[in-house]
Amino acid sequence: MHRNQQEVKFFGSFRGNFPKDQRKHVVFVGRSNVGKSSLINMLVGKKVAYVSKEPGRTRSINFFLFDKNLYLVDVPGYGYAKVSGEERERWKEMIEMYFSECKDRIALVFSLIDSRHGPTPLDEQMLRFLEGYQYVVVLTKCDDASQKEQSETIKKVRSLTNAPIILTSAKEGKGREELLKTIKMINGEV
Ligand code: GDP
Repeated sequence: MHRNQQEVKFFGSFRGNFPKDQRKHVVFVGRSNVGKSSLINMLVGKKVAYVSKEPGRTRSINFFLFDKNLYLVDVPGYGYAKVSGEERERWKEMIEMYFSECKDRIALVFSLIDSRHGPTPLDEQMLRFLEGYQYVVVLTKCDDASQKEQSETIKKVRSLTNAPIILTSAKEGKGREELLKTIKMINGEV
């Protein structure tokens, strides 16, 4: 196997009754349309996550097996305007249940923020929610952000948190090595 090619397989979709085994979880969260599916696909080098044509559909939490001993966990995006209050509530319940049930195995959270727009109020809420977890801020779509937008976003993120920041572009493959290195560190490989 090529050294850059991870073995990643879809494991399952869950709305509750999450896997109880001791594998570590590396979790991806972000606003709907932030580029999460594209980033996961870029990271693993194949299309495992569904790039949304209809953002906002309440989906389940998708688990992918990464090299057999770690889960990549794709949490459905938040903040899609057309979603009903009821659906939003269902999303919140599911996320809270996931984070509390799996707390002891959540080794790292990648909190995705659009580099072009900076943290939205909902992104800020998410960062607050993540206090108590180990997390990294991942700026997405850097290929499409001007230098000014990017540095403004970094400045705003810095005012909210001291978490590490990784600059990425799924389109250009930017940040892939850094993301992989971070995951492998969690996995105890380096
Ligand atoms: P998700 O809803 O967070 O899973 O976001 P998607 O991966 O479905 O992407 C949402 C939209 O952003 C799509 O139109 C993608 O083509 C676009 N997109 C995703 N990643 C990038 C990127 O790195 N650069 C640019 N320019 N567009 C991107």
